[in-house]
Amino acid sequence: MKILFSDVTLIGTMDEEGREIENGYVLVEGNKIDYVGSEKPEGKFDRVIDGRGKLMLPGFVNTHHHFYQSLFRNIKGVNDLPLFPWLTTLYEMWKNIDEEAVHISTIVSILEMMKSGVTTTTDHLYLVPENNNFIFDAQIEGGIMTKIRFHPTRGSMSLSKKDGGLPPDSVVQTEEEILIHSEELINKYHDPEKYSMLRIALAPCSPFSVTPELMKESVKLAEKKNVLLHTHLAETLDEERFCLEKFGKRPVDYMEELGWLNERVWFAHLVHISDEDIEKLEKNDVGMAHCPTSNMKLGSGIAPVSKMKEKIRIGLAVDGSSSNDTGNFLLEIRNALLLQRVRFGADALTTREVLKMATMGGARVLRMDDYIGSIEPNKAADLIMFDLNRLEFAGGLHDLLSVPVILDAKKVDFSMINGEIVIEDGEFTILDEKTYIEKQNKISNKLIP
Ligand SMILES: [Zn+2]
Repeated sequence: MKILFSDVTLIGTMDEEGREIENGYVLVEGNKIDYVGSEKPEGKFDRVIDGRGKLMLPGFVNTHHHFYQSLFRNIKGVNDLPLFPWLTTLYEMWKNIDEEAVHISTIVSILEMMKSGVTTTTDHLYLVPENNNFIFDAQIEGGIMTKIRFHPTRGSMSLSKKDGGLPPDSVVQTEEEILIHSEELINKYHDPEKYSMLRIALAPCSPFSVTPELMKESVKLAEKKNVLLHTHLAETLDEERFCLEKFGKRPVDYMEELGWLNERVWFAHLVHISDEDIEKLEKNDVGMAHCPTSNMKLGSGIAPVSKMKEKIRIGLAVDGSSSNDTGNFLLEIRNALLLQRVRFGADALTTREVLKMATMGGARVLRMDDYIGSIEPNKAADLIMFDLNRLEFAGGLHDLLSVPVILDAKKVDFSMINGEIVIEDGEFTILDEKTYIEKQNKISNKLIP
């Protein structure tokens, strides 16, 4: 199948040189980009898509999420809590999720992100009620149904209330159970090949919900299976105090002790970090998922992204839907830009830098930059387009690449993942969203007292 995008008003390639091609052409053959440039390629095409009046970008990469939390959004009372009490309140509701809840919330969360331009996402599912490991299969099957490029993690918790941790006893597992199942899951689903649609990473939840032994064993297993590692780190000052009290070290130093500062790792948040921490992260080639909206909602703080942007791999992330509470990636892009400027001034981050984080940055964080993140020949055909003839853009078409950052873009009009069209004229071509909205609300109403 050969699809030609013709006369695209602007193609923001997000390649190394940051090329912006006016009235350009993109040829997709199968699941790959064959050509991008300003000359019309010759030959016969199965389909020609008119790109006049459109902005094209590589699909966005979401680097941190908890899909199941989309069942627990916007809860009165919970809306106004900081991280630790927020967690302990929600755990009492979260502990009742089952396979169906995980399956449906996965589909809903992914569809919501796809609408705002995401073509690759991870997920961090870390609670396993009553040892039900099948929730991971339920999630992966849901992800496959949406056709997204998926890099979920096998999350875990081993410290519960009875050991001085925050989560209830019924959602944690023993270290042995976690490690055995993690390896099984990798064997069953992980595809390491270029253009892979499904990879698995390992993700103990956070320093305050697992033991040091599990953190160390996860590193060993990741090396053995050649997979990535992920966890939350330095999200709040409460966490820093907890680490100092319990381990005698600040979060980054504690991770160093556990062997967690290495090139396989990406951390979510990294809000409360020092210049020395940044140096360590840089030296060890650690990646970061920056979650500005979640950090704002929980009042966690402002991550020093502008200080780190040249030093470490940074992607953007909507985080879980009960701390955001939306899955709109376009809002995340905009909030990333604005929040840096609140703390560090107008030159903290440019519109192009933040778009780079949303695309190539995320691809680097997930170690997929050899085949996604930019519009270049031989990259996977993960492409999104915005119709520029919208009310929200009227009078603002002077810097087309910045349209989705500066103006109210809301959603994409077109999305292609791995060569397959998943959104056209603003509508899904893959699943009927209404069915899943209904199912999700039903489950959510059951889970929330
Ligand atoms: Zn999170």
